[in-house]
Amino acid sequence: MEIDAIVVGAGPNGLAAAITLQQAGLQVLLAEGKETIGGGMRTAELTLPGFHHDVCSSIHPMATLSPFFKSLPLAVHGLSLIQPTIAAAHPFDNGHAAVLKHSIEETAGLLGEDAAAYLQLIKPVVNDWPYMAEDILAPLHFPKAPFRMLQFGLKAMRTADAIVKRFKTPEARGLWAGMAAHSLLPFSYTSSAAIGLVLSTAAHLDGWPLIQGGSQGLADALASYFISIGGEIRTGLYVENVDQLPPARAILFDTGPKQLLQIAGHRFSSFYKSQLSKYRYGPGVFKIDWALDGPIPFTAEECRLAGTVHLGNTYEEIALAEKGNWQGKISEKPYVLLAQQSLFDITRAPEGKHTAWAYCHVPNGAVVDMTAIIENQVERFAPGFKKMIIARHVMNPQQMQAYNPNYIGGDINGGAIDIRQLFTRPALRWSPYRTSAKGIYLCSASTPPGGGVHGMCGYHAARQVLNDLSTSV
Ligand SMILES: Cc1cc2nc3c(=O)[nH]c(=O)nc-3n(C[C@H](O)[C@H](O)[C@H](O)COP(=O)(O)OP(=O)(O)OC[C@H]3O[C@@H](n4cnc5c(N)ncnc54)[C@H](O)[C@@H]3O)c2cc1C
Repeated sequence: MEIDAIVVGAGPNGLAAAITLQQAGLQVLLAEGKETIGGGMRTAELTLPGFHHDVCSSIHPMATLSPFFKSLPLAVHGLSLIQPTIAAAHPFDNGHAAVLKHSIEETAGLLGEDAAAYLQLIKPVVNDWPYMAEDILAPLHFPKAPFRMLQFGLKAMRTADAIVKRFKTPEARGLWAGMAAHSLLPFSYTSSAAIGLVLSTAAHLDGWPLIQGGSQGLADALASYFISIGGEIRTGLYVENVDQLPPARAILFDTGPKQLLQIAGHRFSSFYKSQLSKYRYGPGVFKIDWALDGPIPFTAEECRLAGTVHLGNTYEEIALAEKGNWQGKISEKPYVLLAQQSLFDITRAPEGKHTAWAYCHVPNGAVVDMTAIIENQVERFAPGFKKMIIARHVMNPQQMQAYNPNYIGGDINGGAIDIRQLFTRPALRWSPYRTSAKGIYLCSASTPPGGGVHGMCGYHAARQVLNDLSTSV
């Protein structure tokens, strides 16, 4: 069979690119280096038989916001989303917790004197999201909804530090810190507010779901749909050099810029090579998966009902830890993101047992063992937690990169998402997806709109390919 396009890498963006091209009538080959597809969406028995852990992504607000994923019949292909009772909880040393609920009014109502400030900050974004989604999850362009985008940009391009001034209570400030820290940026950086706004909005629109059976379920549903429309997938095909691939009208790489340089650098202009070599990475992550004897005994009841728990206490404590990551400092009290899948999905662990997933941010490439520090941080808000641990699996940033070469130094966003690289990833170009070599494209999280499981980088890269092919005939 003649191949029109090859996509290298079957992460969410590789799958999205392959589907978009196949839908347009091209014959597409999706080549994955590992034996299983999924990239950041794999699930495996990392600790003990019967305990199914999400190796990378686990909570999927960005997938539910994705206009592209929404357009696909994924439920028909086996995808089943589970909404935890509470999207996210944020415990404090005093035993109380702030909570991010599906209802924006309920969330605000629990923030006391900050209720109005929360509504003022988030509600306009929630209301305008349906008009702006395609503008936000896209490369830089003239927006379809310019006025709404301007309103959003005036908040999103600010620092998390500037936004927190709207809040007086430790609850609202801490909740905001937990949301903004998903950016992996110091809170004093321009645009460090953007991800916090988008993730809060996601909770109030489509929730923060997990996937029944594990994130692999999303990868499998995407692959099943791709095959149903005639696409072909080959696993175990690691691409070292672009010249090893069969001829095709377009080749798209779901890889990072550094890897792309190794694979196809000999075809690029020296200017483009120099641009790619200057691409910058943010902090890495240190991750632990636990097999547990029971649910985590959080002091605050809300945390026992939450899919995600943000550990880090106050705004100030989290701000300090996140800033330290950029200065090469290891925090003894880091911001920890924790997910409790088995509370809501009984397929994840044997009866009566549980799984938990957690990571903290560390300086890029750090080799320090954060196991005790992370477990102390959980124990701080859930006394008795350590006694529940039956087995654990840990990955430091270097092991994360060895697992997936896209996570350079453990950076899970495919590169820093500060203002300098938010729209110009991987380089300042008319189209961020085109390389300097005709027919070679980048479609990974190292292109706009960046990290997370949403497939929009792959979708836009594929649209660029289709546009180029239509004008070249
Ligand atoms: C610990 C961790 C937790 C995360 N949690 C979340 C979360 O809860 N929610 C969320 O939305 N996001 C999360 N993310 C981020 C998310 O997983 C990534 O942003 C996303 O997977 C990026 O998608 P991608 O398609 O660009 O690349 P990837 O998912 O990295 O996929 C790239 C694929 O390409 C393959 N590949 C690479 N090089 C080659 C080659 N040369 N030849 C052949 N194949 C190759 C790789 O094997 C891989 O399968 C997390 C990431 C990590 C690491």
